Amino acid sequence: MSVVPDPGHRPDWDTYYMSIAHAVKARSNCSRRQVGALIVVERSIISTGYNGTPMGVRNCNEGGCLRCASKAPHGAGYDTCICVHAEQNAFLLAARHGNATQGGSLYSTLRPCFGCAKEAIQAGIREIVFEEPMDYEPELERVYQQLIAESGIHFRGHGWAEGVGG
Ligand SMILES: [Zn+2]
Ligand SMILES: [Zn+2]
Repeated sequence: MSVVPDPGHRPDWDTYYMSIAHAVKARSNCSRRQVGALIVVERSIISTGYNGTPMGVRNCNEGGCLRCASKAPHGAGYDTCICVHAEQNAFLLAARHGNATQGGSLYSTLRPCFGCAKEAIQAGIREIVFEEPMDYEPELERVYQQLIAESGIHFRGHGWAEGVGG
């Protein structure tokens, strides 16, 4: 019996990885916002991450993170937030298990924050693919764009028109 899939129903690589990032996102325990990320090296997924409190700490959605449980407005109070970002978790779980991230692609359901963008560059990630946009104040946006341009990292929105992506 033939098990050859119908090529018409086969997702392209970006769609494939991004749909897995969405499955990863469903495991997030952050009460504020759920994000999923994964790292691909030579077509293989070498690490995944979702956002939430560190291992061994009560889950964010069970009151583990006081900042997330507080009424701090979106984007404020991050100094006391103990939630680890999805992208950070993808980098750190790769480190924990000894998987090289050099030359990899980072897929995230949300545009990585400035910190995660810096860390991606330093982890040797060559390409960032994200889905949901995220707006920053103009000053930070300028520095962010400058960092992306100067580092030479490829940065694009999945499902977006060419050239768009922050
Ligand atoms: Zn949280
Ligand atoms: Zn981040």
